[in-house]
Amino acid sequence: MSSEPPLPAGLCDGCRQARIRRSARSAFLLCGRAAADPAFDRYPRLPVLTCAGFEPGEPVGRALPPGAR
Ligand code: SF4
Repeated sequence: MSSEPPLPAGLCDGCRQARIRRSARSAFLLCGRAAADPAFDRYPRLPVLTCAGFEPGEPVGRALPPGAR
């Protein structure tokens, strides 16, 4: 469990397919399904309100401190 507040990303906030990338001043979200399935946008328009690929779980990279990637 993370102590960080959720991203304003809708379903992606709780999807294990989400990949959170951080720079020193920002964070952005990639959809992990997009690499194998062109039906999914690599950078989905947020917030995602409906998604056939939603998979409950913790997004990858959420617990990393800003600037760690
Ligand atoms: S599968 Fe859907 S809900 Fe999950 S990260 Fe990709 S766009 Fe977001």
